[in-house]
Amino acid sequence: MKKFVDDILHVKVLLENKAYKQLLEFYNQSGDYETGGILVGYYDVNYNSAIITQVTNAPKDSICRRRSFRRGISGLSKYLQAIWDNKNEYYLGEWHSHPHSSAVPSKVDISQIKHIANNPKFLCSEPLLLVIGERYGKIELQLIVVIDNKTYMLNSVADEKL
Ligand SMILES: [Zn+2]
Repeated sequence: MKKFVDDILHVKVLLENKAYKQLLEFYNQSGDYETGGILVGYYDVNYNSAIITQVTNAPKDSICRRRSFRRGISGLSKYLQAIWDNKNEYYLGEWHSHPHSSAVPSKVDISQIKHIANNPKFLCSEPLLLVIGERYGKIELQLIVVIDNKTYMLNSVADEKL
């Protein structure tokens, strides 16, 4: 699995292998167009960590362009209800792709995730934003968390076995 940490905040985010594979598939399928979806999983309060167990593909009403992505909502509330009923897991944040370019979030990306943090509809005051891109032909991931309206970029640490 992939692991992201912030040593000052003592925050940890784990991306399970299954979710990482889904992410790569969605990234490869979308070619030159941005795509994205939501991050699903749970918090482990004892370890101050979030565990991402699933990522979803773009809802049908999303708008995928070469340099922007607007996530739709079609089917999501039903999906989240089912995830909660079956696994007690829930919405953790958003992900999207930067095809063939750096995964560093743009200013628009940052303001959108802050907006979600402040929107009571999402019931998620500390949302994550995961961006998948490429640097020198290699997959690159960037993970951001919003805490108290500030964004923190977590450091990726070496792969760990499950
Ligand atoms: Zn972006």
